Amino acid sequence: MPVNYNGIVYPAADAHAHIYPEKIAEKATASVGAFYNLKMENTGLPEVLLREGKRAGIDRFAVCSVATKVEQVRSINAFIGRACKEHPEFVGLAAWHQDIADIEGELDGIMGRGLKGIKLHPDFQEFQIDDPKLLPFYRAAHKRGLPILFHTGDIRKDFSSPRRLARLLDKLPDLICIAAHLGGYTEWDTARECLKGENLYVDASSSLGFISREEALKSIYHFGTDKVMFGTDFPMWRAGEELERFFSLGLSAEENRAVLYGNFARLYRLQRDG
Ligand SMILES: [Zn+2]
Repeated sequence: MPVNYNGIVYPAADAHAHIYPEKIAEKATASVGAFYNLKMENTGLPEVLLREGKRAGIDRFAVCSVATKVEQVRSINAFIGRACKEHPEFVGLAAWHQDIADIEGELDGIMGRGLKGIKLHPDFQEFQIDDPKLLPFYRAAHKRGLPILFHTGDIRKDFSSPRRLARLLDKLPDLICIAAHLGGYTEWDTARECLKGENLYVDASSSLGFISREEALKSIYHFGTDKVMFGTDFPMWRAGEELERFFSLGLSAEENRAVLYGNFARLYRLQRDG
């Protein structure tokens, strides 16, 4: 069942959800909670994501899992690939690591698994977004049409700063990417100062609970309602509560439609439109 708000029905996608294999889900969820000093609302299992999302009316999910070591990349991507086969509601984002040597070979594997983009978390993975070492990878991913979802922003860290993403986009202005958390978690003003682009999307995950309605709207209109996507950062937030926060921004029905589903469907080239 799609989301129903004020008598209007919206198809909805979650553009930012983390899932973990059963045996590490509890531990992985707890360690993310500790890093951000936040109480996690769920355990990061695919089935929980689906159940909680569907209860709130969401039926498409971009799912990812981050590799902190290069050796983890293949098994994570195998897991994400399996989860997507099992659950057609999922759009799989591959893990990647800055130390991967065979860029083309690894991207072949990712495409072979049917994954639709790549997720990077510079703070967990400890690399700078604009590290020149990553340029060949960014170029190769772009050539294959794989959007890159960057965790962006954390005033305690420098790796994922929106300024670093801006510097990268100066070099590769066509790169199709998503700057998570409205362009920069805890750095929302900096993100608005330095980021904007035709191929730059943002997701609204882990943001709406921290900033005022005015600031959220400033960010959304800065990036453009054709570039913003709804997201929960599952298992961080509950889908229903995050949707309430989103609707309380008071965007028009057409804007709601774009942010909840239209932009997501266009970016990941989903076939159906409803
Ligand atoms: Zn994330």
